Formats: sequence, C-alpha cells, structure tokens
Amino acid sequence: MIPNILSIAGSDPSGGAGIQADIKAIGANGGYGMAAITALTIQNTRGVQGAQLIAPDVVAAQVASVFDDIRVDAVKIGMLGSADIALAVADVLQGRGVPVVLDPVMVAKGGDRLLAADAVAVLRDVLLPLATMVTPNLPEAADLLGMDEADTQAGMILQARTILALGPQGVLLKGGHLAGGDSPDLLVTADAAHWLPAQRVATRNTHGTGCTLSSALATQLALTGDPLAAARAAKAYIHAAIAGADGLQVGQGHGPVDHF
Ligand code: PLP
Repeated sequence: MIPNILSIAGSDPSGGAGIQADIKAIGANGGYGMAAITALTIQNTRGVQGAQLIAPDVVAAQVASVFDDIRVDAVKIGMLGSADIALAVADVLQGRGVPVVLDPVMVAKGGDRLLAADAVAVLRDVLLPLATMVTPNLPEAADLLGMDEADTQAGMILQARTILALGPQGVLLKGGHLAGGDSPDLLVTADAAHWLPAQRVATRNTHGTGCTLSSALATQLALTGDPLAAARAAKAYIHAAIAGADGLQVGQGHGPVDHF
C-alpha cells in the first residue's frame, strides 16, 4: 500500500524547505504527498525576505477538504506561523485518529523567525499532546521547555523525557547542534530510549533538513507503524540526503539537500 501523507506547512519557493521539501521527501520514502499551506514565505538560499500567513480558517478548510475525500495515513506539521493558525490546525485534526509528526519549526537556518513568539505556548500546550511524534532540534527543545539548550547527551535525555511528559507518544530529539564530529539523535518513548548515531557531514547545504526528516518520518511511520523502525529509516534517509547535498548547485547561500 502506498501511504497518503498530508503536510501542513509553509511554502519555500526555492524548493529546499517547507512543503516543497516535504513532497519530495514523502515521494522518495514511498508515499503520496499532499500539502495544506499555512504560509507563503518569500525566500531563497540566502534567507527569508518575508512571509504572507494564510487565514486560519482557510488553512483548516484545506485540511478538512483533504480528509473529506482522501484516506490520510499520516500528517506532518511544519511551519505554523501564528498562534491562531496553530489553534485552527489543532482543532481540525482533533479526533482524526491518524499518526501526526510535529516538527516544531520556530526559526529558519538563517535566523529568521517562522513562528510568532506567542505561538510557542500553543505548540506546547495544544499541539504536543496531539502529536504521535515530535522532532525538535536542540534550540527548539530549549524554547519549548523554557530551559537552556542541552549541550551533552545526558542533557538531551533529560529534555527529551521532559517533552515526552507533555503528551506526545515519542520524541525524536535531534543532536545536530551538539559540538563535535557526531550528530546523534535520540528517540524516547514511554518504554525506551534509543540513540541513533551518525557522523556529521561537512557541508553548508543543510537548508530544509528538519522538514525533510519529519516528512520522511511521517511516511515511514505510516509504512511501518513502529516509531523506532521509522526513526531509523528516516535518519538513514536524511543522512544520505545531506551526504549528497554538495552534488546540487542551487543558489549562493545554504543550499538544499539531495532528496533523490
Ligand atoms: N518551513 C518553511 C516554510 C521554511 O521556509 C523553513 C526554513 O526556511 C523551515 C520550515 C525550516 O527549515 P529547516 O528544515 O531548515 O529547519
């Protein structure tokens, strides 16, 4: 069965992040990709120049229309932009009974905010409990918890368990911001913690890695039904995508990864 995966996220016209990355990653992982758009960003590989948020009821209507007609096997949530959009998305997903992967997108690689500061509490209090899995990086985890950023593996375990207690069934805490040559991710569920080790790849082309990983994870979760198997497959996919990134020639800033 080819799973139908719905991304609820922003558009990146340069194709490296947002729904454009999501649809490529979903396809490469064996899924059929769909997208309900929360925002039109204006950006290229050098940075974000602006964003037009979509009205919350229009975001929710896109999601409802897809669910009305199509079997949705998993949902991935990316950029939400505002507290009102986050609330509308939570409302329209309530009671749907499908796996939800929440990528708590807050800041673009270049430092531009993609989520209003007052929406972080909505993400934590309303969307986290709805999520099957959540995929924060270290700055996002710190922001969600109001703590300092973890800088050790012990600190990562503590923060992942604290996020788990907020309601999701699994936390994939990404260690890409740790200092050193390794980039280990940590998967924590109610009954286990697993390290997913990886060597860091030296490249400046990392635009859209979070979007790509969370979309791969949603697809693999629909395919396998198993958080650990899904996380391992998604991690292998993003590692290969980053390893191949320098083969692309896209823009002069932080280029995209190779979604193949
Ligand atoms: N979603 C959108 C629409 C974006 O434009 C970006 C970054 O620019 C992101 C998400 C987050 O990107 P990343 O996967 O690099 O964290």
